[in-house]
Amino acid sequence: MNLRSDDELLHYIVTEDPRETEALFARARAAREKYYGADVYFRGLIEFTNYCKNDCYYCGLRRSNTKIERYRLSLEQILMCAGLGAMLGYRTFVLQGGEDPYFTRERVVEIVGALREKYPECAITLSIGERSRKSYAAFREAGANRYLLRHETANAGHYAKLHPASMSLGNRKRCLFNLKKLGYQVGSGFMVGTPFQTPENLLEDLRFLQSLEPDMVGIGPFIPQSDTPFGEEAQGSMAQSLRMVALSRLLLPAALIPATTALGTIHPQGREKALLAGANVVMPNLSPKATRKLYALYDNKICTGDEAAECLGCMTGRIRRVGFVPNMCRGDVALKRLQSGRLLRME
Ligand code: SF4
Repeated sequence: MNLRSDDELLHYIVTEDPRETEALFARARAAREKYYGADVYFRGLIEFTNYCKNDCYYCGLRRSNTKIERYRLSLEQILMCAGLGAMLGYRTFVLQGGEDPYFTRERVVEIVGALREKYPECAITLSIGERSRKSYAAFREAGANRYLLRHETANAGHYAKLHPASMSLGNRKRCLFNLKKLGYQVGSGFMVGTPFQTPENLLEDLRFLQSLEPDMVGIGPFIPQSDTPFGEEAQGSMAQSLRMVALSRLLLPAALIPATTALGTIHPQGREKALLAGANVVMPNLSPKATRKLYALYDNKICTGDEAAECLGCMTGRIRRVGFVPNMCRGDVALKRLQSGRLLRME
Protein backbone atom coordinates (compact mmCIF):
# COMPACT_ATOMS: atom_id res chain seq x y z
CA MET A 1 0.00 0.00 0.00
CA ASN A 2 1.92 3.10 -1.11
CA LEU A 3 -1.13 5.15 -2.15
CA ARG A 4 0.85 7.02 -4.78
CA SER A 5 -1.07 6.02 -7.85
CA ASP A 6 -4.59 7.10 -8.72
CA ASP A 7 -5.48 3.46 -9.33
CA GLU A 8 -4.50 2.43 -5.83
CA LEU A 9 -6.32 5.35 -4.24
CA LEU A 10 -9.42 4.55 -6.28
CA HIS A 11 -9.19 0.96 -5.13
CA TYR A 12 -9.30 2.04 -1.46
CA ILE A 13 -12.05 4.57 -2.14
CA VAL A 14 -14.37 1.77 -3.25
CA THR A 15 -13.12 -1.43 -1.58
CA GLU A 16 -15.49 -3.13 0.84
CA ASP A 17 -13.06 -5.91 1.72
CA PRO A 18 -12.95 -5.95 5.55
CA ARG A 19 -9.31 -7.08 5.73
CA GLU A 20 -8.15 -4.35 3.37
CA THR A 21 -10.21 -1.77 5.20
CA GLU A 22 -8.86 -2.79 8.61
CA ALA A 23 -5.29 -2.66 7.26
CA LEU A 24 -5.99 0.84 5.92
CA PHE A 25 -7.36 2.00 9.28
CA ALA A 26 -4.39 0.48 11.16
CA ARG A 27 -1.99 2.39 8.91
CA ALA A 28 -3.97 5.59 9.44
CA ARG A 29 -3.88 5.10 13.24
CA ALA A 30 -0.10 4.59 13.11
CA ALA A 31 0.35 7.78 11.05
CA ARG A 32 -1.77 9.73 13.51
CA GLU A 33 0.11 8.27 16.48
CA LYS A 34 3.42 9.46 15.02
CA TYR A 35 2.32 13.09 15.00
CA TYR A 36 -0.18 13.32 17.82
CA GLY A 37 0.17 10.23 20.01
CA ALA A 38 -3.16 9.13 21.44
CA ASP A 39 -4.44 12.68 22.01
CA VAL A 40 -7.83 13.83 20.78
CA TYR A 41 -8.32 17.60 20.76
CA PHE A 42 -11.48 19.48 21.67
CA ARG A 43 -12.96 22.46 19.81
CA GLY A 44 -15.88 24.37 21.31
CA LEU A 45 -18.38 25.04 18.55
CA ILE A 46 -20.49 28.22 18.65
CA GLU A 47 -23.13 28.27 15.91
CA PHE A 48 -23.88 31.98 15.98
CA THR A 49 -26.16 32.52 12.96
CA ASN A 50 -28.29 30.27 10.79
CA TYR A 51 -29.01 32.98 8.20
CA CYS A 52 -27.36 32.40 4.85
CA LYS A 53 -27.45 34.30 1.56
CA ASN A 54 -26.50 31.19 -0.39
CA ASP A 55 -28.70 28.43 -1.70
CA CYS A 56 -26.61 25.23 -1.69
CA TYR A 57 -28.94 22.43 -2.74
CA TYR A 58 -27.94 20.13 0.13
CA CYS A 59 -28.09 22.49 3.11
CA GLY A 60 -30.96 23.19 5.49
CA LEU A 61 -29.71 26.75 6.08
CA ARG A 62 -30.09 27.68 2.39
CA ARG A 63 -31.92 30.96 1.87
CA SER A 64 -34.84 29.33 0.04
CA ASN A 65 -35.71 27.21 3.06
CA THR A 66 -38.63 29.15 4.46
CA LYS A 67 -39.48 26.47 7.02
CA ILE A 68 -36.50 27.13 9.25
CA GLU A 69 -36.71 29.61 12.12
CA ARG A 70 -33.76 31.97 11.80
CA TYR A 71 -31.62 33.29 14.67
CA ARG A 72 -28.50 35.29 15.35
CA LEU A 73 -26.53 35.40 18.57
CA SER A 74 -25.55 38.80 19.94
CA LEU A 75 -21.96 39.61 20.87
CA GLU A 76 -22.94 39.16 24.52
CA GLN A 77 -24.44 35.72 23.83
CA ILE A 78 -21.31 34.66 21.91
CA LEU A 79 -19.13 35.81 24.79
CA MET A 80 -21.34 33.88 27.23
CA CYS A 81 -20.91 30.68 25.16
CA ALA A 82 -17.14 31.21 25.08
CA GLY A 83 -17.11 31.98 28.82
CA LEU A 84 -18.87 28.71 29.55
CA GLY A 85 -16.44 26.91 27.24
CA ALA A 86 -13.41 28.49 28.90
CA MET A 87 -14.77 27.48 32.31
CA LEU A 88 -15.12 23.90 31.07
CA GLY A 89 -11.50 23.96 29.87
CA TYR A 90 -11.84 24.65 26.13
CA ARG A 91 -8.91 26.49 24.54
CA THR A 92 -10.29 26.66 20.99
CA PHE A 93 -13.51 28.34 19.92
CA VAL A 94 -15.02 27.75 16.50
CA LEU A 95 -17.42 30.47 15.39
CA GLN A 96 -19.57 28.93 12.72
CA GLY A 97 -22.43 30.37 10.71
CA GLY A 98 -24.07 30.67 7.33
CA GLU A 99 -22.95 33.44 4.98
CA ASP A 100 -24.94 36.06 6.82
CA PRO A 101 -24.63 39.61 5.40
CA TYR A 102 -25.63 41.04 8.80
CA PHE A 103 -22.22 39.97 10.07
CA THR A 104 -20.25 42.53 8.13
CA ARG A 105 -16.47 42.73 8.24
CA GLU A 106 -16.75 45.27 11.06
CA ARG A 107 -19.10 43.13 13.14
CA VAL A 108 -16.94 40.02 12.76
CA VAL A 109 -13.84 42.06 13.65
CA GLU A 110 -15.63 43.28 16.76
CA ILE A 111 -16.53 39.72 17.82
CA VAL A 112 -13.06 38.31 17.14
CA GLY A 113 -11.44 41.28 18.88
CA ALA A 114 -13.61 40.84 21.96
CA LEU A 115 -12.82 37.13 22.15
CA ARG A 116 -9.11 37.77 21.60
CA GLU A 117 -9.03 40.33 24.39
CA LYS A 118 -10.87 38.11 26.84
CA TYR A 119 -9.11 34.86 25.94
CA PRO A 120 -5.62 35.75 24.74
CA GLU A 121 -4.40 32.17 25.14
CA CYS A 122 -7.20 30.56 23.11
CA ALA A 123 -7.31 29.75 19.41
CA ILE A 124 -10.11 31.46 17.50
CA THR A 125 -11.44 29.65 14.45
CA LEU A 126 -13.85 31.16 11.97
CA SER A 127 -16.15 29.18 9.72
CA ILE A 128 -18.26 31.80 7.96
CA GLY A 129 -17.78 31.02 4.30
CA GLU A 130 -16.46 32.95 1.34
CA ARG A 131 -15.32 36.52 2.06
CA SER A 132 -13.00 38.97 0.36
CA ARG A 133 -9.26 38.79 0.94
CA LYS A 134 -9.54 42.15 2.67
CA SER A 135 -12.07 40.76 5.14
CA TYR A 136 -9.97 37.65 5.82
CA ALA A 137 -6.99 39.95 6.48
CA ALA A 138 -9.06 42.09 8.87
CA PHE A 139 -10.26 39.03 10.81
CA ARG A 140 -6.69 37.77 11.05
CA GLU A 141 -5.53 41.18 12.25
CA ALA A 142 -8.25 41.13 14.91
CA GLY A 143 -6.92 37.84 16.26
CA ALA A 144 -8.43 34.92 14.32
CA ASN A 145 -5.98 32.02 13.97
CA ARG A 146 -7.82 29.39 11.99
CA TYR A 147 -10.44 29.21 9.25
CA LEU A 148 -12.61 26.30 8.15
CA LEU A 149 -13.97 26.34 4.61
CA ARG A 150 -14.80 22.99 3.08
CA HIS A 151 -14.42 22.83 -0.67
CA GLU A 152 -17.19 20.13 -0.67
CA THR A 153 -16.16 18.76 -4.07
CA ALA A 154 -13.05 19.54 -6.11
CA ASN A 155 -14.69 18.75 -9.44
CA ALA A 156 -16.17 21.83 -11.11
CA GLY A 157 -18.90 19.86 -12.91
CA HIS A 158 -19.95 18.15 -9.70
CA TYR A 159 -19.76 21.45 -7.79
CA ALA A 160 -22.21 22.94 -10.31
CA LYS A 161 -24.69 20.13 -9.57
CA LEU A 162 -24.62 20.88 -5.83
CA HIS A 163 -24.71 24.66 -5.96
CA PRO A 164 -26.57 27.39 -7.87
CA ALA A 165 -24.78 29.19 -10.71
CA SER A 166 -24.04 32.16 -8.43
CA MET A 167 -21.43 30.02 -6.62
CA SER A 168 -18.22 28.67 -8.12
CA LEU A 169 -15.54 26.19 -7.18
CA GLY A 170 -12.97 28.67 -8.51
CA ASN A 171 -13.94 31.25 -5.92
CA ARG A 172 -14.00 28.65 -3.14
CA LYS A 173 -10.46 27.60 -4.02
CA ARG A 174 -9.32 31.22 -4.31
CA CYS A 175 -10.62 31.86 -0.80
CA LEU A 176 -8.76 28.83 0.55
CA PHE A 177 -5.45 29.87 -0.97
CA ASN A 178 -5.96 33.48 0.21
CA LEU A 179 -6.51 32.21 3.74
CA LYS A 180 -3.29 30.22 3.56
CA LYS A 181 -1.34 33.22 2.31
CA LEU A 182 -2.67 35.28 5.21
CA GLY A 183 -1.20 32.83 7.70
CA TYR A 184 -4.35 31.10 8.91
CA GLN A 185 -4.31 27.46 9.88
CA VAL A 186 -6.74 26.39 7.19
CA GLY A 187 -9.28 23.60 7.18
CA SER A 188 -10.98 22.22 4.12
CA GLY A 189 -12.85 19.02 3.36
CA PHE A 190 -15.78 17.48 1.61
CA MET A 191 -18.94 15.41 1.86
CA VAL A 192 -19.04 11.75 0.94
CA GLY A 193 -22.01 10.41 -0.98
CA THR A 194 -23.49 13.64 -2.31
CA PRO A 195 -25.83 13.21 -5.29
CA PHE A 196 -23.96 12.63 -8.58
CA GLN A 197 -20.64 11.96 -6.81
CA THR A 198 -18.36 9.35 -8.41
CA PRO A 199 -15.27 7.60 -6.96
CA GLU A 200 -13.20 9.71 -9.36
CA ASN A 201 -14.65 12.85 -7.75
CA LEU A 202 -13.45 11.59 -4.36
CA LEU A 203 -10.03 10.97 -5.85
CA GLU A 204 -10.02 14.59 -7.05
CA ASP A 205 -10.93 15.67 -3.52
CA LEU A 206 -7.88 13.88 -2.16
CA ARG A 207 -5.63 15.29 -4.86
CA PHE A 208 -6.95 18.78 -4.21
CA LEU A 209 -6.24 18.42 -0.50
CA GLN A 210 -2.70 17.35 -1.34
CA SER A 211 -2.23 20.50 -3.40
CA LEU A 212 -3.75 22.78 -0.75
CA GLU A 213 -2.00 21.09 2.19
CA PRO A 214 -4.62 22.19 4.73
CA ASP A 215 -3.97 21.95 8.47
CA MET A 216 -7.44 20.56 9.12
CA VAL A 217 -9.58 18.20 7.03
CA GLY A 218 -13.31 17.82 7.70
CA ILE A 219 -15.05 14.84 6.12
CA GLY A 220 -18.63 13.81 6.71
CA PRO A 221 -21.24 11.76 4.93
CA PHE A 222 -23.90 13.60 2.98
CA ILE A 223 -27.12 13.54 5.03
CA PRO A 224 -30.29 14.80 3.34
CA GLN A 225 -32.30 17.63 4.87
CA SER A 226 -35.97 17.24 4.10
CA ASP A 227 -36.63 20.89 3.18
CA THR A 228 -33.95 21.03 0.47
CA PRO A 229 -33.93 19.94 -3.20
CA PHE A 230 -31.90 16.87 -2.16
CA GLY A 231 -34.29 15.97 0.65
CA GLU A 232 -35.21 12.62 -0.91
CA GLU A 233 -31.67 11.57 -1.87
CA ALA A 234 -29.89 8.66 -0.21
CA GLN A 235 -27.40 9.48 2.52
CA GLY A 236 -23.68 8.86 2.10
CA SER A 237 -22.07 5.66 3.33
CA MET A 238 -20.39 5.53 6.71
CA ALA A 239 -17.89 2.92 5.53
CA GLN A 240 -16.78 5.06 2.61
CA SER A 241 -16.62 8.18 4.80
CA LEU A 242 -14.32 6.32 7.20
CA ARG A 243 -12.11 5.18 4.34
CA MET A 244 -11.85 8.80 3.17
CA VAL A 245 -10.84 9.83 6.71
CA ALA A 246 -8.12 7.16 6.70
CA LEU A 247 -6.88 8.07 3.21
CA SER A 248 -6.76 11.77 4.16
CA ARG A 249 -4.74 10.87 7.26
CA LEU A 250 -2.25 8.89 5.18
CA LEU A 251 -1.87 11.56 2.51
CA LEU A 252 -1.71 14.43 5.05
CA PRO A 253 -0.36 12.73 8.17
CA ALA A 254 0.05 15.91 10.24
CA ALA A 255 -3.50 17.16 9.63
CA LEU A 256 -6.06 17.68 12.36
CA ILE A 257 -9.07 15.62 11.34
CA PRO A 258 -12.38 15.82 13.20
CA ALA A 259 -14.60 12.88 13.98
CA THR A 260 -17.58 14.78 12.62
CA THR A 261 -21.06 15.16 14.06
CA ALA A 262 -22.43 13.93 10.72
CA LEU A 263 -20.67 10.59 11.27
CA GLY A 264 -22.14 10.43 14.77
CA THR A 265 -25.57 11.16 13.28
CA ILE A 266 -25.60 8.26 10.81
CA HIS A 267 -24.22 5.73 13.32
CA PRO A 268 -24.27 5.75 17.14
CA GLN A 269 -20.54 4.93 17.19
CA GLY A 270 -19.67 6.92 14.07
CA ARG A 271 -17.32 9.31 15.86
CA GLU A 272 -15.49 6.50 17.68
CA LYS A 273 -15.09 4.69 14.37
CA ALA A 274 -13.65 7.86 12.85
CA LEU A 275 -11.09 8.09 15.68
CA LEU A 276 -10.13 4.49 14.93
CA ALA A 277 -9.76 5.41 11.24
CA GLY A 278 -7.30 8.25 11.92
CA ALA A 279 -9.34 11.23 13.16
CA ASN A 280 -8.05 13.19 16.18
CA VAL A 281 -10.41 16.10 16.88
CA VAL A 282 -13.93 16.44 18.27
CA MET A 283 -16.11 19.53 18.19
CA PRO A 284 -18.70 19.52 20.97
CA ASN A 285 -21.34 22.21 20.90
CA LEU A 286 -21.20 25.33 23.09
CA SER A 287 -24.16 27.03 21.39
CA PRO A 288 -27.16 27.91 23.58
CA LYS A 289 -29.48 24.93 23.93
CA ALA A 290 -32.40 26.99 22.61
CA THR A 291 -30.81 27.56 19.19
CA ARG A 292 -29.12 24.21 18.55
CA LYS A 293 -32.07 22.54 16.86
CA LEU A 294 -32.35 25.57 14.56
CA TYR A 295 -28.87 25.00 13.14
CA ALA A 296 -30.37 22.29 10.97
CA LEU A 297 -27.80 21.63 8.27
CA TYR A 298 -29.27 18.14 7.82
CA ASP A 299 -31.98 15.95 9.38
CA ASN A 300 -31.69 14.23 12.79
CA LYS A 301 -28.51 16.05 13.82
CA ILE A 302 -27.31 14.72 17.17
CA CYS A 303 -26.38 16.60 20.37
CA THR A 304 -29.04 19.28 19.94
CA GLY A 305 -30.58 18.73 23.37
CA ASP A 306 -27.59 18.47 25.70
CA GLU A 307 -25.96 21.10 27.87
CA ALA A 308 -22.35 21.99 27.03
CA ALA A 309 -21.06 20.18 30.12
CA GLU A 310 -23.02 17.04 29.16
CA CYS A 311 -21.55 17.14 25.63
CA LEU A 312 -18.06 17.42 27.08
CA GLY A 313 -18.63 14.52 29.49
CA CYS A 314 -20.17 12.38 26.76
CA MET A 315 -17.30 12.97 24.33
CA THR A 316 -14.64 12.43 26.98
CA GLY A 317 -16.16 9.03 27.78
CA ARG A 318 -16.43 8.05 24.12
CA ILE A 319 -12.79 8.96 23.48
CA ARG A 320 -11.54 7.00 26.50
CA ARG A 321 -13.62 3.95 25.67
CA VAL A 322 -11.81 3.52 22.35
CA GLY A 323 -8.38 3.94 23.95
CA PHE A 324 -7.57 7.58 23.22
CA VAL A 325 -6.76 10.50 25.51
CA PRO A 326 -8.95 13.63 25.67
CA ASN A 327 -6.77 16.74 25.42
CA MET A 328 -8.22 20.22 26.05
CA CYS A 329 -5.17 22.22 24.94
CA ARG A 330 -5.29 24.41 21.82
CA GLY A 331 -4.12 21.49 19.71
CA ASP A 332 -2.33 23.38 16.98
CA VAL A 333 -1.22 21.53 13.87
CA ALA A 334 2.02 19.55 14.28
CA LEU A 335 4.58 21.83 12.73
CA LYS A 336 8.20 22.58 13.26
CA ARG A 337 9.68 26.02 12.82
CA LEU A 338 12.75 26.30 10.67
CA GLN A 339 15.48 28.82 11.43
CA SER A 340 14.21 30.85 8.51
CA GLY A 341 10.94 31.26 10.39
CA ARG A 342 9.13 29.14 7.82
CA LEU A 343 6.78 26.53 9.23
CA LEU A 344 7.11 22.99 7.96
CA ARG A 345 5.18 19.83 8.69
CA MET A 346 7.14 17.41 10.87
CA GLU A 347 8.69 14.56 8.91
S1 SF4 B 1 -23.65 25.09 3.00
FE1 SF4 B 1 -22.99 27.03 3.95
S2 SF4 B 1 -23.08 28.52 2.26
FE2 SF4 B 1 -24.31 26.75 1.60
S3 SF4 B 1 -26.41 27.27 2.23
FE3 SF4 B 1 -25.49 26.07 3.91
S4 SF4 B 1 -24.66 27.57 5.33
FE4 SF4 B 1 -25.05 28.61 3.38
